[in-house]
Amino acid sequence: MIRHEDARELILSECPVMETERRSLAASLGCVTAEPIVSGEDVPPFLNSSMDGYAVRSADVSEPSTRLRVIDTVMAGDGRLVSIGKREAVRIMTGAPLPEGADAVCMVERTRSEPDGKWVVIEDSVSAGNSVRRPGSDIAAGEEVVAIGTELTAAHLGVMARLGLESVPVHRPPTVGVLSTGDELREGPDALPRGAIRDGNRPMLLALIGRAGYPTVDFGILPDDATTLRELLQQAASECDALVTSGGVSVGDLDVVRIVLSEMCGQSMRWMQVAIKPAKPLAFGLIDGRVPVFGLPGNPVSSMVSFELFARPALRRMGGLNETARPALSGIADVDLPRDLDGKVYLFRALATVDANGRLHVRPSGGQESHQLRAMADANALVVLPDGPGVRAGEEVEVLLLDAERLRSGP
Ligand code: AMP
Ligand code: MG
Repeated sequence: MIRHEDARELILSECPVMETERRSLAASLGCVTAEPIVSGEDVPPFLNSSMDGYAVRSADVSEPSTRLRVIDTVMAGDGRLVSIGKREAVRIMTGAPLPEGADAVCMVERTRSEPDGKWVVIEDSVSAGNSVRRPGSDIAAGEEVVAIGTELTAAHLGVMARLGLESVPVHRPPTVGVLSTGDELREGPDALPRGAIRDGNRPMLLALIGRAGYPTVDFGILPDDATTLRELLQQAASECDALVTSGGVSVGDLDVVRIVLSEMCGQSMRWMQVAIKPAKPLAFGLIDGRVPVFGLPGNPVSSMVSFELFARPALRRMGGLNETARPALSGIADVDLPRDLDGKVYLFRALATVDANGRLHVRPSGGQESHQLRAMADANALVVLPDGPGVRAGEEVEVLLLDAERLRSGP
């Protein structure tokens, strides 16, 4: 058996990083930058007010309750050149350029305007720089605003738009083909003949890949037949950057998937027995020495766990990320989590919640056998239990949070 960390390292080292392309900002969300992004200009571009109020010369208002003559009003977007002299003020709105001569703003709530609007009393003394935003105080020209290898978020898009950038160099996200193998598999509502089951893995894997941010191609269900399988894998490899299959990789399987993958991947093919439960069997290779194929086990829970531990990090590496695995958090087990001593790391499907003190708690989300996908559907986390007797209620465990958006407060 191979340790899961070693299996992942081996796979990551074999997966090619995708080429660079320029994408429009709108199409770059979730993509990974292939170059650092450097600002060509200051943001904000000019000295402006951070409040609705009055622009003043601080020297005029060093004492409280100073009365100033109001000579103009500037709104955001007002491009006129306005200037103020001694004991003058200009009514100003948030974001409007500061008049020449002004060096501070007094917020409107601390002023009293006289009924004709021609005079204002500034109640407080105001010092230079009060309620103003300097040019470049958000981003300075020449500053690196997005590092290379960054997964672009909505805020990154906002930052780049503020710099006038319309496109960004990113790694092309890999297109991933998905197929299920097994003579027993069906889909749809038709009554199942004896021995048949419905394919749950393909919709699940397509969704997991989509959620990770990669386009998918659905290649359907394949029978355990070498010729059909070979033809379809060849076609899929020509259309996609990576392939994810499920089924046919465990020791007891009919040799069809094994024979075909071994033949197509040659020297690069690895048949692994990973020291984890569930998801022990794992196949990985490069079709024609080029297209990574992840042969995940058929049992639905194993398929999902294997995707999480191996395929998802590998696809993220292909997409240009260095940091590929989910961070290991620490949580409290709310119930006993017993296990066997067998040299494997166990991955319990668990529901994680956050208590009133912000601490993470976990408990199993249902049956833990590898065909029991239901418990996976009710889970938002995996608890990682190293080999040993397990843990008692109240003890700390390692938690991989699969879905932070489904984290709720709870007991
Ligand atoms: P295999 O890895 O092909 O030996 O399959 C292991 C178990 O998973 C068997 O019980 C299969 O029937 C089941 N299985 C395989 N593929 C799927 C699938 N796509 N959806 C649901 N169950 C599957
Ligand atoms: Mg099978």
